[in-house]
Amino acid sequence: MVKPFIIGTHNAGPFLYAGVDALKAGGSALDAVEAATRLVESNPDDSSVGLGGIPNILGVQEMDASLMCGRTLRTGAVGALKGFIHPISVARKVLEEAPHVMLVGAGAEHFARVMGCEEGSLETESSRKVYRAFVEDTFEHGGIDQSQEWVVTYARSQNLRQWYERLADKHHGTVNIQAMDENGDMASAVSTSGTALKFPGRLGDSPVIGAGNYCDNRFGAAACTGRGELAIRNSTARTIIHYMEDGLSIKEACFRAMKDIHALKSFGGMNCLALDVKGGTMSASTREDRESTYWYMDVGMRAPETRKGINVKQ
Ligand code: ASP
Repeated sequence: MVKPFIIGTHNAGPFLYAGVDALKAGGSALDAVEAATRLVESNPDDSSVGLGGIPNILGVQEMDASLMCGRTLRTGAVGALKGFIHPISVARKVLEEAPHVMLVGAGAEHFARVMGCEEGSLETESSRKVYRAFVEDTFEHGGIDQSQEWVVTYARSQNLRQWYERLADKHHGTVNIQAMDENGDMASAVSTSGTALKFPGRLGDSPVIGAGNYCDNRFGAAACTGRGELAIRNSTARTIIHYMEDGLSIKEACFRAMKDIHALKSFGGMNCLALDVKGGTMSASTREDRESTYWYMDVGMRAPETRKGINVKQ
């Protein structure tokens, strides 16, 4: 039996201790991933998760998050959620209380309010600055009317795909956190503000179970960061689990899923974080310009350690 542990993508390192504390206190893997993700969401310096997340094209922050329990396969996901401090905890409420697995937009906000989730603004000076820079860059004379009409006028003036490639590549990111508890149960959590300056209502892979997140005690857990559209098209998280189910090692499964992303021949990169039933861990990336690394911390450690994943070439 492996020691209970938690892993997370690069922006999660300093916050994994919260998950370890939860595991040491006898908490479940779900408790651990939620606790650590909440701290990442509260970090104002992280411009792609929770507080300080980059807004959409209308200047509004819309959050995506999901959580999955490997023992029960119960999931909770929220998309395009506005005005709640901890999207991951709203997702947890969906998992525990809702008769559904995914809620988006106004419906998700209504549910979160009913559940008593903490409301508040996620804006920071820095998130406002990024949006102002976009507006100033776009309109010589500045000043926009934050309405659907403005978006339509703007969108009509653009080659939308080129526009998305230019803007979305600058600011993006997601946190992936996974844990295994003393019972060998696994959980996987994902939270993000999505790609910067996205269209209102755009959902990435993070709240889409099977695309950006999946967890099944029988085989393992997998989650993604990167251009969500690619993970949705390939069902990347579930595919990694499927590859492990078919007998591939965790490394081979991640490698193959990143090769599948390359095969789409589309712009943007993809990264994954995974764990297997034996407690093996791995990350992989389609990018070649940056090492694929992640953090690991078990209940016997005082600080997390960095682990190296694999870079998968075209
Ligand atoms: N996967 C996220 C999304 O597409 C963003 C990212 O990780 O860069 O919304």
